[in-house]
Amino acid sequence: MRGRAGGKRVNRGEHQPLLDPLTSILNHKKMNPDSVSAKLLEALPAAVLVLRGGLMVYANPAAHLLLEVEMSGEYPQGLVGQPIVEFIHPLDQSHSVNRIRRSASSKTANVPVEVRLQTRRNRVRVVLVTSVSVDLEGEPGVLVTAMEVRRDSTTGERMRRSEEHFRRLFENMQDVYYRTDALGVVQLVGPGVRRVLGFEPHEIVGRTAEEYYPNHADRDAFKDAIRKFGEVADFPGQMVRKDGRIIDISISSSALFDEDGAFAGVEGIYRDVTERKELERELRRLASIDSLTNILNRRAFIERAREELGTHYEPGIEQTLLLLDIDYFKSINDQYGHATGDQVLTRFARAVGEQIWSTDLFGRLGGEEFAILVKHTNPEQVRDLVDRVLDAVRTIRLEADGRPSRAVTVSIGAARRTSIDHRVEHLLDRADRALYQAKHGGRDRVFWERTA
Ligand code: GH3
Ligand code: MG
Ligand code: MG
Repeated sequence: MRGRAGGKRVNRGEHQPLLDPLTSILNHKKMNPDSVSAKLLEALPAAVLVLRGGLMVYANPAAHLLLEVEMSGEYPQGLVGQPIVEFIHPLDQSHSVNRIRRSASSKTANVPVEVRLQTRRNRVRVVLVTSVSVDLEGEPGVLVTAMEVRRDSTTGERMRRSEEHFRRLFENMQDVYYRTDALGVVQLVGPGVRRVLGFEPHEIVGRTAEEYYPNHADRDAFKDAIRKFGEVADFPGQMVRKDGRIIDISISSSALFDEDGAFAGVEGIYRDVTERKELERELRRLASIDSLTNILNRRAFIERAREELGTHYEPGIEQTLLLLDIDYFKSINDQYGHATGDQVLTRFARAVGEQIWSTDLFGRLGGEEFAILVKHTNPEQVRDLVDRVLDAVRTIRLEADGRPSRAVTVSIGAARRTSIDHRVEHLLDRADRALYQAKHGGRDRVFWERTA
């Protein structure tokens, strides 16, 4: 044993002859099966395990029985070579791993604690566990003993019940339960992930959550919030499904800390809220759209114009408000009927909409009155636009049996934004005065409000 030469552990082996068979196994030597200590390990009702770097390097028969692993088939070595963490229940993993890590660096045995184990056959067993550090040819190891807690133990029963609740929730909830380690690597994810992301849980475990975020800003915002508040509720974001579709999600999570208070990961749930978000978007769209003409309604137009005018005034960029009122609309209704009047409104909105730029705002303020907030780099472009609008409206012709065909025309009042105009109401007032002039000037024309 190398430790003997190191001086520090010089007495350990000599004073613990009972452990001889164990040390010989660890030193890859055959142990004498007839030695008393070998028989003791074989006959002990308690499970005995030796771990090196989280992997089992020795397990006695009671350990195999406890964890329901047979030394045959897939695992001819039995428990040897398997990571211990695979047999610890998810709810107990982080603190158990911490205890094992701590006992590796301490000389005395841990006090016995109850831990939930998960057997190879997926049965949950509550055991009383102790651990103590051992020297494995100079490398640190941990010797673990475990005994199943009897069913009548109240803590054991309570733990079993809480495990049952957890299992039921974990398996059946619509939300996706997940847990990551401190580096964001997923340790555990519920079966809900199949429905929400289209992945099998094992495809997610071992990968970082970042991979499912289409916008890294979302993930960063989430991490910042967790760091700052320790938890988040109904936090919005998006994820990419296995089929590439992007879904809206809502996350509620909290930070996990180990027994030393260090950040150890995140645990929480997320759910698919795409339908709800789409409904919200549709409601918002409907609330801002005029149902007859499909352009912005009065409220939305004024709101967006206010935002647009609220931005910095840029000299050289023309911002012009055009107020449009269809000429003699009342007589169109009277002559051709209200339904035709409605059709004129729709055709008018389409004809004008084809002339404007996508950056321009176009809305129906009410009745046969419309408005455009134009943003262009020079006055010529705006004049061109106005001319095209007047022409496009003239092409809307009304025909009805027995009546002479009639063209539709519009009058336009135009007001340019000046350096002192910040309120949409001021511009609307000035455009309205200009519109009045256009009507009085004979209709089917534009009148430019003279700026002061
Ligand atoms: P002017 O040339 O001076 O603008 O005359 P006008 O007849 O267009 O103006 P007025 O404001 O007198 O008439 C507007 C008419 O628009 C009155 C109203 O019945 C009609 N109207 C308002 N909303 C609708 C609508 O949604 N559909 C239809 N078909 N008519 C509407
Ligand atoms: Mg009118
Ligand atoms: Mg009118």
